[in-house]
Amino acid sequence: MSDNYRQETICIQSGWKPKNGEPRILPIYQSTTFKYDDSDQMGRLFDLEENGYFYTRLQNPTNDAVAAKITELEGGVAGMLTSSGQAANYYAIFNICEAGDHFVCSSTVYGGTFNLFGVTMKKMGIDCTFVDPDASEEEIGKAFRPNTKALFAETIANPALVVVDIEKFARIAHSHGVPLIMDNTFPTPINCQPFKWGADIVTHSTTKYMDGHAMCVGGCIVDSGNFDWTRYPDKFPGLTQPDESYHGIIYTERFGKGAYITKATAQVMRDLGSIQSPQNAFLLNVGLETLHLRVPRHCENAQKVAEFLNSHERVAWVNYAGLPDNPYHALAQKYMPKGTCGVISFGIKGTREETVAFMDRLKMIAIVTHVADARTCVLHPASHTHRQLNDEQLREAGVKPDLIRLSVGIEHVDDIIGDLRQALEQ
Ligand SMILES: *Cc1c(COP(=O)(O)O)cnc(C)c1O
Repeated sequence: MSDNYRQETICIQSGWKPKNGEPRILPIYQSTTFKYDDSDQMGRLFDLEENGYFYTRLQNPTNDAVAAKITELEGGVAGMLTSSGQAANYYAIFNICEAGDHFVCSSTVYGGTFNLFGVTMKKMGIDCTFVDPDASEEEIGKAFRPNTKALFAETIANPALVVVDIEKFARIAHSHGVPLIMDNTFPTPINCQPFKWGADIVTHSTTKYMDGHAMCVGGCIVDSGNFDWTRYPDKFPGLTQPDESYHGIIYTERFGKGAYITKATAQVMRDLGSIQSPQNAFLLNVGLETLHLRVPRHCENAQKVAEFLNSHERVAWVNYAGLPDNPYHALAQKYMPKGTCGVISFGIKGTREETVAFMDRLKMIAIVTHVADARTCVLHPASHTHRQLNDEQLREAGVKPDLIRLSVGIEHVDDIIGDLRQALEQ
């Protein structure tokens, strides 16, 4: 938006811009298709010569308005919604990698991403090397090969809560001629805008804080437009050479800074089809309207809960970058000075059985496979989300066997602490 509005205003006003007499609120374009009066115009749309809608698998006005809002919040040039965060991360990589290619990824990423990259994409012939995000530039650089096409990391890892040194990662990626792709799900653009620190592409599981109410699974990819694909034409032929599946279009020539997202839409989404439903995009947009209010409250509550847990005798350890003695405190202060996120991890003294018993004693705080929504919830990754990983993989992912992931909601903080206290002290 040329008006340079602040994040709070973008959350409310951006995306849908009704013209005279149109609905004030973003309409749900609950339609698979769009009508045209003449066949030639439809042809031009198919050739990407004209902008317009023809089939919702490629583009839908409701989805586009919501993608535009997220794009603006991140400070990017183009974005697209996907049906899930998994689809967003898959497409973000697959848009520039094919069989025989390779990419490098932080080892502390979300378990679902770890599986997608390390197991499923490997079966497609795309190889991934996982690196310790705290290793030196030189050490991480050793993972790069001539066929490496991207570097990937999470700004705050789920659930390890490792804060990545974004500038370090950007330097490593760019010195090897590849883009830095960052999953910015946990801080959201309210707390961190990775493009400002050199990231090139950002992904989201909008399922989390963006939706914020645990209503819809969804994802998003945003491009900064900053990575110059044409500097490495041989490395990124999908963007710099004719696309035979699209009448020989060259995305970088025709679309400039929009090349990456146009290809992701016109080719990857066209063929793989993980589109977000317009109904879900509408609900996501309602969530986005209060993102700037909810995220600070999540952080404020999480800070108080982390301090409570940290001072409790039954608690063995607490991991929250808002605590001054946390190893990622300084990085968090630099990249997300307003706060990190509402997610805390901690362990209680005692056996694995006692951990489970503690969780079962919670009354208001529910055990659910979710994170980052309005309601406080807990999860034991080793027995739930990460149970497919062995002990060594768990350690690599920064997940201790006794780790409890606590997603602090926006209830009154004293009620959250009260529930934790009774479950700890029973
Ligand atoms: C949840 C999550 C994903 C996967 O997103 P889905 O919407 O569940 O598919 C990816 N990355 C991070 C950081 C997540 O927290």
